[in-house]
Amino acid sequence: MAKRDYYEILGVEKNASADELKKAYHKLALKFHPDRNQGDKEAEGKFKEAAEAYGVLSDEQKRRSYDQFGHAGVDAQGFPGGGQFTNVEDIFSAFGDIFGSSVFGDFFGGGGRGGGRGQRRARRGASLRCAVELNFADPVEAIEKTIELRRGELCETCHGSGAKAGTKPSICNTCGGAGAVMSSAGFFQMRSTCPQCGGTGEVITDPCGTCRGAGRVVKPREIKIKVPAGIEDGITLRVAGEGESGDPGAESGDLLCDVRIKPHPVFKRAEADVYLVVPISFAQAALGASIEVPTLRGKSELKVPRGTQSQTVLKLKGEGFPRLGGYGKGDQLVEVVVEVPRKLTKDQEKLLRSFAETEDQNVTPERQGFLDMMKKLIGK
Ligand SMILES: [Zn+2]
Ligand SMILES: [Zn+2]
Repeated sequence: MAKRDYYEILGVEKNASADELKKAYHKLALKFHPDRNQGDKEAEGKFKEAAEAYGVLSDEQKRRSYDQFGHAGVDAQGFPGGGQFTNVEDIFSAFGDIFGSSVFGDFFGGGGRGGGRGQRRARRGASLRCAVELNFADPVEAIEKTIELRRGELCETCHGSGAKAGTKPSICNTCGGAGAVMSSAGFFQMRSTCPQCGGTGEVITDPCGTCRGAGRVVKPREIKIKVPAGIEDGITLRVAGEGESGDPGAESGDLLCDVRIKPHPVFKRAEADVYLVVPISFAQAALGASIEVPTLRGKSELKVPRGTQSQTVLKLKGEGFPRLGGYGKGDQLVEVVVEVPRKLTKDQEKLLRSFAETEDQNVTPERQGFLDMMKKLIGK
């Protein structure tokens, strides 16, 4: 199903300011808020759609990528398009600042969100970074790359609790389970994270043998990464949920893959276009020729028109990379450079000399003008 335009979803102009975006989103979020539309699937869909649109457009970098490449531009980088906001809770945590206003206070106050009695919330896993190296021509189509990495995952023996099977962590004596301790400095009361339990409110008395109480273990993993066609050097792909595991019950982090594309000995690239320099002979340039040139996908016939000048750039349409936004392909640009022969055979020299003798009588109008100017300069 085709996705709707983010600006259209929010009902704003393409050049809308950050403030206008925020207002438009605020209005929609109020209208389609799940608390106001209990069980209304359509409203929930609209609520998520608006959150996704705002998530992209409120971020300067994502907005630029969206303006340039459309949905593919943000999807390719793992921005929300791929359904990051699968539940309403995510939206709340992503846009807390907007919802923090008094208008939203009523909606959000009563729910069962937030941690229990002073305990810290389950933390999301950390994101990991990796590099994906591609050959120059790889981006002609979407490919899958396998990355090997080591990442922290929840211990399977204790499910992340760190406690030995059959035992439970006990309540921390230092903070009484609150996860925080108070200390006084002069007139001030300071609240700080409990040094004993690190804020969890619990201590492990009988540690799990597998993870030695850490709750997590480092595992080697092979992750398959989908690299979209037309990907460019320097783009970072986000693979949701393939980073480090979070606390029990919390989401895993993401895997961020920096794409590196190896240079090519003869091809150069500029976005979707590919560029190549090809030497041709004087005779080919003068008489015209059909020559075979290498392309990203193999080879192609290039027509060199009669009378082609050196450094003319000829185009092989559609022989470039697919555009990252998914619309068509770039071209292959071929710069032809006329080579002057360094050595001539006796026959060639004879022919060329007789050719040269005819030149004075056969000059093009441009050349005639140039020659006249030269004669003037030299004073002949
Ligand atoms: Zn364990
Ligand atoms: Zn404690």
